[in-house]
Amino acid sequence: MKLKYWALMLKRLKTFKKEYGMRFNKVLRDIKIYEAGKPIEMVVRDYGIAPEDVVKLASNENPIGTNPAVSRVIRSNADLAHLYPDDSMFELKEALSAKFDVEDENIIIGAGSDQVLEFISRAVLHENASVLMSAVTFAMYEIYAKQMGAKIYRTASYEHKYDEFMEAYRMYKPEIIYLCTPNNPTGDATSKEEVLEIIKAVDKKTLIVVDCAYMEYAAAKDPAYAITPNDLLGFENVIYLGTFSKAHGLGGMRVGYGISQPELIQELYKMRPPFNISTLSLAVAIEACKNDDFVLKSIALHQEQIQRYEAFSNEQGFKYIESYTNFITYLFDEDMDSTKISEALLKRGIIIRNLASYEMNAIRITIGTAKQNDVFFKHFSEVIA
Ligand SMILES: *Cc1c(COP(=O)(O)O)cnc(C)c1O
Repeated sequence: MKLKYWALMLKRLKTFKKEYGMRFNKVLRDIKIYEAGKPIEMVVRDYGIAPEDVVKLASNENPIGTNPAVSRVIRSNADLAHLYPDDSMFELKEALSAKFDVEDENIIIGAGSDQVLEFISRAVLHENASVLMSAVTFAMYEIYAKQMGAKIYRTASYEHKYDEFMEAYRMYKPEIIYLCTPNNPTGDATSKEEVLEIIKAVDKKTLIVVDCAYMEYAAAKDPAYAITPNDLLGFENVIYLGTFSKAHGLGGMRVGYGISQPELIQELYKMRPPFNISTLSLAVAIEACKNDDFVLKSIALHQEQIQRYEAFSNEQGFKYIESYTNFITYLFDEDMDSTKISEALLKRGIIIRNLASYEMNAIRITIGTAKQNDVFFKHFSEVIA
């Protein structure tokens, strides 16, 4: 079905180009469209399952739901839709600088840290540039690099191994190195000591992006894995990325940030469109900075529930990757097929992430509420039986 669609689109695209002479940037030939987790609406439509019976554990969203304090802020901003937001983002920068003990000028805000990744890529990369990342990591690094026509190099392991990064770094001298800790979609993390080791061994000419989208979970699990923006500010060629989408439960509001030297931040600002964050997004992110209780509650639920996933995998005799994030990755032997399992679960209204497109026979499951996890285990046991 999917394959047929793409074959058809390719044919139509050829006609489109021939008949209308439309010219696209040649970098597009090599880019696959990012496949986000399937929305609940699609499962309802395709499989006739009632919306309340669909369990979505696919996009690493916060299962607790929306923080009531955030809902209140959204309501109180209901009559401000006609005004552009404060483009200086002064209040949010103040809140973040207090939270992380940095200065306003160290911060750039994006529509998700995804947009900060885009700014970085456009500010640094070009057709003769290259980037280096681990074998299996966040898919957007590759997509943004390809948009700029840059070359992609990967290490052999999904873990961030010093020797592998150094060997590739010396060979290719990439413009950007991506360190994703904790790593998505695998869930493993790199200790602060190891991250600093890589940073110190790399020349200042190379920009190092330390993507800490799940840092709240890692820091709560093991202090040796906790990295703060201040740990990295002493290095001129490093940028720290964080987001409100995961532990803060604001995925739908699209707010993320980059923290680095003012000089580097200034260069990224040249790539930023005005008003890149909505009025509501700004207001809720400011509220979230004051609201640590919600994050603590999210982490407590997560730490309790993830133990069930570890125990289940031990009982069933397949492996999992030790997780420092709000999801867990189950690794299968040949006797289990991640694609078949994912499809069987989908028909039952359970949405998880198949990692076959990362060339892994594995699935990634966002840890849900106790109730959602009950439903997952029930269906998963039946599917693999
Ligand atoms: C979720 C995620 C992001 C960015 O999420 P936004 O919603 O765009 O802030 C960045 N990096 C990784 C590794 C992620 O998993």
